[in-house]
Amino acid sequence: MNCIKVSLFFVLVLFAFGASAASSVFNVPMSEDLRRNVSMFEEPRLIKVTDRVYLAYAFDLVNSVFVIGDDGVVVIDTLARVENAQRALTELRKITDKPIVAVIYSHGHFDHTGGSAAFVAKGGDSDISVYASENWPRYRQELVSPLYPMINRRLIEQVGFAVASPGVERYEHVLGPVYPKAVTLSYVTPNRTLSGRTRMTLAGVKFEIVPIPSEMDDEMVIWLPEEGVAYAADTMAQMFPFLATPRSEPSRSPRGFIKAKDIMLDWRPKHLLFGHGPALTGKNAVRELITNYRDVEQTLLDQTIAAINSGKTRDEAAAEVRLPPHLDKDPMLIDSYHRASWVIKGLYSRLSGWFGNDALELIQHAPKEEASRMILLAGGANRMLQQAQTALDEGDYAWAAQLASYLLRADQNVVAARKAKIKAFTSLAALTHSGNERYYLLSGALWLENGGPIVPGFNQADHTSMVPTEEFIELLGPRLDLQRSADTLLTVNLDITDTQEQFRLTVRRGVLERRMGKHEKPNLTLIMERKTLLAFTAGLVPVDTLLSDGAIRTRGDIGRLLALLN
Ligand SMILES: [Zn+2]
Repeated sequence: MNCIKVSLFFVLVLFAFGASAASSVFNVPMSEDLRRNVSMFEEPRLIKVTDRVYLAYAFDLVNSVFVIGDDGVVVIDTLARVENAQRALTELRKITDKPIVAVIYSHGHFDHTGGSAAFVAKGGDSDISVYASENWPRYRQELVSPLYPMINRRLIEQVGFAVASPGVERYEHVLGPVYPKAVTLSYVTPNRTLSGRTRMTLAGVKFEIVPIPSEMDDEMVIWLPEEGVAYAADTMAQMFPFLATPRSEPSRSPRGFIKAKDIMLDWRPKHLLFGHGPALTGKNAVRELITNYRDVEQTLLDQTIAAINSGKTRDEAAAEVRLPPHLDKDPMLIDSYHRASWVIKGLYSRLSGWFGNDALELIQHAPKEEASRMILLAGGANRMLQQAQTALDEGDYAWAAQLASYLLRADQNVVAARKAKIKAFTSLAALTHSGNERYYLLSGALWLENGGPIVPGFNQADHTSMVPTEEFIELLGPRLDLQRSADTLLTVNLDITDTQEQFRLTVRRGVLERRMGKHEKPNLTLIMERKTLLAFTAGLVPVDTLLSDGAIRTRGDIGRLLALLN
């Protein structure tokens, strides 16, 4: 079937830099609480849920579900990496030699789709159906947007990819074990899309699939009525709800999360499977967890709205939220993934924007100016550094990091302040019960050590056929250097030969305008194919190579443009 496309690419090897072996972020111990929160993964194995349903567990930081039907196997989610998916497939082959007849993506996140090439033969020779919500293209396009460095960097930070000890075979994340040496990421393009509740029979097994925009706008929950098995995908797990995320994810729908629970409650499942973590069995236990989960989500949402409406700031809302006592200490709802306060901050920002109801935010001094004044109030930079040290000694790491941040923002005692902040972050990383907090803090320490953020490589080069060409040109905008272009007027035509599209760029004193069409008398004309345009704007291939290969032909001096780009 020629609509199937497979692409392989590598994500981990594309960092602009790695941590040095001497980095303080490696070998930071894990707290006992977090160790307990990740202790359930143990060895990779297939867990038999029913005669026909197996959970591929701990092969990756995510689960797969194998449904063995009359004449074939249906794979729900494909693990994150091809190597890990192949290991799970090897285990499946010990149970059945029936062919794989369908793949279902519960949503498009890389961890649920990245191993797909292990299950679907490469190229146009496969007749395997690959199902996804009709909304699936939006996220793939987002990965090719100018925001891709942020999207990929926060994923890397959250999962801890950049701060794993070098050479380690496996480390534990609260989502599941991570195998750093498994790096091959694939994405088999869906060839069947679903909209609305769909009942169908695959390999003789009845499925009910409900697309429900929630964690992602292409999220789907799945019901196998004959088996009593519901698959919640990433609408929930045995951890605190994640209605919002520090990664941003603007498509996330808090109300969709709650609706997904109501859909699953109506199914009355005996077994509840999740995208991450162990399965839950028993009608009562399943009903209780889903009910508690949706009730926590409901009260978080309602309390946040109440806080916004009553004029509380975002941080006040996060500090003051309370759960009903019977849910507060529920071991199934520990904030071992995102912290509860982050969820409230995320909901607040989603619902009411950045403004926190206090007009101070409209007029307050810039961060550097505020920091300088706080340092004066503290009695000078040395005095503030001493206080940061005292806070470190007393174990008040958040305050130590705050004080060190004032010094860094004001460019005072920078070396010592950076050291103090790294110490605060790594100390907290060793204490926290939250996996994400640990890895964000260690990644933050790495950022401080390196003097800049983790820079992920552009890794979606093969998924761009559906992205309009003008979006590739958008990638250039954030690369314009404001200072170097401050006095420049430069006109550039881009002729895209294979699609016969024309674009005109204008560098106008610090701003890059991009429009369709052409300048009458441009300073520079660049002639290339569409795929070369992406290689150029995303920085996939050095421009010198593109020029010497003849992939970019020029009329005029391209050096004038390149000198303005970061
Ligand atoms: Zn996931």
